[in-house]
Amino acid sequence: MEKIDIKNFNMRELEAFLSGQGKERFRATQIFKWIYQLGALSFAEMTNLSKDLRAELEKTAVISTLLPTAVEEGRDGTRKYLFTLDDGEAVESVLIPDEGRNTLCISTQVGCAMACEFCLTGTFRLKRNLTTAEIINQVCAIKRDAEVRNVVFMGMGEPLQNLDNLVRSIEIMLDGNGLQLSNRRITVSTCGLVPQMAELGRRVTVNLAVSLNATTDELRDRIMPVNRKYPLRELLLACREFPLPSRRKITIEYVLIGGVNDSLEDARRLLRLTSDIPNKVNLIPFNEHEGCGFKAPTRAAVDAFHKYLIDRHVTVITRDSRGGDISAACGQLKGRLEKIAG
Ligand code: SAH
Repeated sequence: MEKIDIKNFNMRELEAFLSGQGKERFRATQIFKWIYQLGALSFAEMTNLSKDLRAELEKTAVISTLLPTAVEEGRDGTRKYLFTLDDGEAVESVLIPDEGRNTLCISTQVGCAMACEFCLTGTFRLKRNLTTAEIINQVCAIKRDAEVRNVVFMGMGEPLQNLDNLVRSIEIMLDGNGLQLSNRRITVSTCGLVPQMAELGRRVTVNLAVSLNATTDELRDRIMPVNRKYPLRELLLACREFPLPSRRKITIEYVLIGGVNDSLEDARRLLRLTSDIPNKVNLIPFNEHEGCGFKAPTRAAVDAFHKYLIDRHVTVITRDSRGGDISAACGQLKGRLEKIAG
């Protein structure tokens, strides 16, 4: 019989698993604490469980882990971890250090089906969804190395296309017996899958970042095919209705592409589109890569775009190119992580 991976369970599911085996449900909280707070790698370590229970769990279940197959560190301290999965596929996570407020960017899929024109992951197509265990194990692995305060789902893949495993991994992060992260420190980033945005909001309370990247349907249809299904009007309505943690704002991500969407006319439209949504804007200068012919914006265009919004009282962050010296299998991963959960 194949063993069950405990890391695929949220608390409710672990309780159900235990009671299905005729065990006491409350043991689930002890097991969660051992795994997520004390970093136990085996049931044998769980000394407050009876010997019998430990032995039986060892027969029926496993506690999976991920070990990084490569770690690269940039001059600014940004660390990129490469994880090889059981089937040989690989995903990346990136840790952005910031004096006790480290932000970890994690992946939810191998590849991506969304095919945004500017994105390197999109050119890999979708291979498969990550399991809950594979998502949560990125955090567990890096927690052994560094404190993780913020988690952003901005790595490879479209998180809302893997909604069940995304939600389950968030439940484990939020659980008082699990990773104990605050919902104010978790941000899900989406290209704009409108029905799934509403469903995410119904199922968990976390921050939301939306990759807008264009201010007209004409351009967004072209560079983000998802827009043909869920156009700007519907996307912005979904942003307005999203139930954020209290006093939080939606992050509008905007990749500035040279000569494509970086004019002051675009800045003006961006302001108009988002004026009735509590938001902060995250400007990301396009990271050039072999996958497409787009160019980075000029420094002057970035500064002018930024200033236009700041002068109109928008909260704007333009990312510096952190981790820019780390060679990247997934070029766009590096540096786009912001203090957005901060
Ligand atoms: N699928 C999710 C999360 C992954 S992409 C989403 O779309 O939000 C995370 C961010 O990286 C998005 O804002 C995306 O627009 C941005 N991005 C993708 N490719 C990029 C590139 N080459 N340069 C800069 N940012 C990029």
